[in-house]
Amino acid sequence: MAQLSAQHETVNLGQGFPERNPDPRLLALVEETMQSDRHQYASMAGLPKLRAIIADQLARRYDTDLSIDDVTICTGATQGLYTAITATVHPGDEVIIIEPAYDSYAPAVRSSGGKVIPVPLHGHDFSMDWDALRSAITSRTRMIVMNSPHNPTGKILYSPEFFRHLRDIVKDTDILLLSDEVYELMTYEDAKHLSILSDPELSSRAYVVYSYGKSLHCTGWKMGYVIAPPVLMTEFHKLHQYVVFSVNHPLQRAVAHYLETDFEDRSVADAFARKRSLLTDSLAGARCTWLGSEGSYFGVLDYSAVSDMDDVAFAKMLVRDHGVTTIPLSPFYTQGSSRKHLRLCYAKADETITAGAAILSAL
Ligand code: PMP
Repeated sequence: MAQLSAQHETVNLGQGFPERNPDPRLLALVEETMQSDRHQYASMAGLPKLRAIIADQLARRYDTDLSIDDVTICTGATQGLYTAITATVHPGDEVIIIEPAYDSYAPAVRSSGGKVIPVPLHGHDFSMDWDALRSAITSRTRMIVMNSPHNPTGKILYSPEFFRHLRDIVKDTDILLLSDEVYELMTYEDAKHLSILSDPELSSRAYVVYSYGKSLHCTGWKMGYVIAPPVLMTEFHKLHQYVVFSVNHPLQRAVAHYLETDFEDRSVADAFARKRSLLTDSLAGARCTWLGSEGSYFGVLDYSAVSDMDDVAFAKMLVRDHGVTTIPLSPFYTQGSSRKHLRLCYAKADETITAGAAILSAL
């Protein structure tokens, strides 16, 4: 889609990165640290000062206890996810992925010799199918991969009820959890993210992954972190040490200073709340149905009222004939999907949102 859209100069509501810069105060701190003498390797698990700040922040945010040893800085969430999977999944293991899902999980499972077992969300509201999850569990199940707030649907999946079901399913097993929480701070109105970290039973068997690309609006910096209990972190480090060794040192320093002095949790959702409303309002008269967005900066447009085409063909037609880029949802499923769903991203300039929505409203 990215390639096709580049050939056609479209209004881009597809790609998942923000059309805005990081806070100028953070950029000033990066410039400052670049002029310092901290240009050599940081320690393997990450700068102790940054890890201490993260442990403290998350402990307060999710009412839990964390130590610096539970935190490892990584080269973006994608590396954290890949390393967590490849450190623990062995040939023949089964890994359940709740779908639609971010596209890096399944290749990591396969490159470890594992088998992907997809469990789709169901219904128009993309809710968890607990019976399907229960019946997907076998003696070979090694891990369940989950994401909330959710890319691509914009749903918030985690709730006390979700955790209750999950505790029930994994109790008396040694199944691990991989919880992708990169959009933790992007929740709107009354919706709130509940982290796996707030549940002692679940977090004792979980890798939880975060991204500064998302929460500081700098996807190109590729910086994130992983939280895990000691026994899981030891396995993680066995690979991290040889694949990455250590993450960009001056950036870690700048981010640590920024988190200490200038960062507020609420600023992340505030940056996108108005844009979410703008997209929702701009699509109000459309024949396609905007299914809304509780979290992240994505949501789903259902175009079943205007076409029977499959989603990939429909999205390509929108690029070629209408000049708007969206992302079809079927590639987010291991076995594809026949649903008429496109992902829209609203982390965009106001003109992009209104121009894209005007084209989609005219369909
Ligand atoms: N998980 C999800 C659900 C994502 O949407 C993304 C980015 N698109 C990532 C992980 C990757 O984050 P990073 O850029 O920090 O590797």
